[in-house]
Amino acid sequence: MNAPHDRQSGLATSRAHSARVYDYILGGKDHYPVDVEAGDAMCRHWPALPVHMRENRRFMHRAGRFLAEERGIRQFLDVGTGLPTSPNLHEVVQEVAPESHVVYVDNDPVVLAHARALLQSSAEGATAYVDGDMHDPDTILGSPEFRDLIDLERPVGLMLIGILHFILPPDDRRLIKRLLEPLPSGSYLAMTIGTADFAPEEVNRVAEEYRQQNMPMALRDLPTATSFFEGLELQEPGVTQVHTWHPGPEQAGIDGRDIAMYGAVARKP
Ligand code: SAH
Repeated sequence: MNAPHDRQSGLATSRAHSARVYDYILGGKDHYPVDVEAGDAMCRHWPALPVHMRENRRFMHRAGRFLAEERGIRQFLDVGTGLPTSPNLHEVVQEVAPESHVVYVDNDPVVLAHARALLQSSAEGATAYVDGDMHDPDTILGSPEFRDLIDLERPVGLMLIGILHFILPPDDRRLIKRLLEPLPSGSYLAMTIGTADFAPEEVNRVAEEYRQQNMPMALRDLPTATSFFEGLELQEPGVTQVHTWHPGPEQAGIDGRDIAMYGAVARKP
């Protein structure tokens, strides 16, 4: 992005932001020099970071496809969407069922500026974007976009992918519960949860770098990650590192020490 555009849009470009750091590390082009600096510092702490982030993104693809294809889910709420990176969730699920609806939510103004790319729905389906914050679930659930696109008589897939490490305790549990509350029985939660269980030194150094860049981060061990799904029916294989959840050929040869993310899909009874 060039400087005049920055001035025009009034975006805060003097501080790194998680969506743009993620975009930079995944090889996208929607980020600023501060994000590059932060991302490079993080990769110096842990060279596996790009592998880890790519596998988080691929978990979203497989979990979305699983819900659409094997569980018949046709409406999704995706909180912490990130910058558009093809395939986005609606592309994954509309490939299975073109009539699918997806409501995207993010709190980063740069994601908002690029939201148009998230709105290229199939003709039969629909997508919408809400500029909202997970800390304020009532605004998300009360938004016209959510109310127009999501029929609460039918099951919904709630996607919380790569966001929970930015949602600190003690609010984390309450916020997840609140988002699940209005969703009917037969809805699903697909979630990834950052952890330092497999490369503690390196991952804790990355987390410290995020904190120093004003992005406080929470990492969880397996019991804590699993506890977020209490009251829900975990689908096979339960809570695992993301690359071992319904792996495909792309996951062959991945070293578990390079993956600092648990993932799971669970059904609301
Ligand atoms: N879900 C995508 C992107 C993950 S990056 C994927 O897994 O590929 C994390 C995203 O969460 C960023 O876009 C960031 O802006 C967003 N985010 C962080 N905290 C948030 C909050 N409190 N509310 C809404 N979005 C948030």
